[in-house]
Amino acid sequence: MIPPAFEYLRPTTIPEAIALLQQHGDQAKILSGGQSLIPMMKLRLARPAYLIDINRISGLSYVKEEGGFLKIGGLTREAELEASPLIRSKYPIILDTARVIADPQVRNLATVGGNLAHGDPANDHPATMLALKAQVVATGPRGERVIPIEEFFLSLFSTALGPGEILTEIRVPAVTPRSGGAYFKLERKVGDFATAAVAAQFSLDGAHVAESVGMGLTNVGPKPLKAAKAENFLRGKKVDPASIGQAAQLAAEESQPSTDLRGPAEYKKGLVKELARRALVRALERAGN
Ligand SMILES: Cc1cc2nc3c(=O)[nH]c(=O)nc-3n(C[C@H](O)[C@H](O)[C@H](O)COP(=O)(O)OP(=O)(O)OC[C@H]3O[C@@H](n4cnc5c(N)ncnc54)[C@H](O)[C@@H]3O)c2cc1C
Repeated sequence: MIPPAFEYLRPTTIPEAIALLQQHGDQAKILSGGQSLIPMMKLRLARPAYLIDINRISGLSYVKEEGGFLKIGGLTREAELEASPLIRSKYPIILDTARVIADPQVRNLATVGGNLAHGDPANDHPATMLALKAQVVATGPRGERVIPIEEFFLSLFSTALGPGEILTEIRVPAVTPRSGGAYFKLERKVGDFATAAVAAQFSLDGAHVAESVGMGLTNVGPKPLKAAKAENFLRGKKVDPASIGQAAQLAAEESQPSTDLRGPAEYKKGLVKELARRALVRALERAGN
């Protein structure tokens, strides 16, 4: 339960944090909310020699719309998302997601940036950000670069963040009228990671035809999964119970769950189908059906 010894570093600016990351390379880890990293250190699954605490860098915590995007600062806490009037009024899929992460104590500290940067397929924001077609802003020694979320998750606990890079912002294309989204998760008990979860987001034209569709799956593969076949099927179709049922079936077929303590793989596939159906139905309601 006691982590190995480490050196604690406390930069107050992004350039300072990047310089420390460069200086200490593989031996250093960024510390944000600490809600994944500290437990891993206590279990000795992570043994960084240097912890670079970015909590004293100002200006990394915000939720705002600007330039056609919803912009979320990398250090924004889950509790701040839950309380944000902008999220509550215009991005209910993000509220669905934030409020089912762990418990209020964890959400007071855990950050959205950390949730994505950890690269854990069991975390909840990755699927939602896949459904929303988000972009991740990485700031490093050569300045800022924007990574489409589909290219961000490489494999288990591995992301496209390069050496010396910090996740500083998440950008979500601003929602348009007649769009809706939802996140549905089944957990064994409140506060648990998902047995499976599905995020769905689409926009409709005047005839209820889906123009843009995004779907993401949680904890049913080696990394967060984009349900591309389901998305392609639904795009250009009228969203109704029949097309929703077919898209949900495709999402289940695309999932790659393993049998574990949360249940057998076949059960989880069935779960994906039902959660996808519910998410799509709720998204349709929210799109103003
Ligand atoms: C009891 C418990 C239950 C939980 N249940 C859930 C759950 O249901 N759903 C869920 O999604 N999560 C859950 N979690 C995990 C946790 O909420 C998330 O993983 C958390 O959001 C991670 O964010 P953090 O700020 O705490 O990251 P940290 O723990 O500080 O960091 C996590 C990793 O990301 C890296 N990192 C952090 N921030 C950045 C950054 N800005 N740039 C680059 N790298 C960075 C760190 O170096 C580290 O490798 C749970 C955690 C606990 C303790």
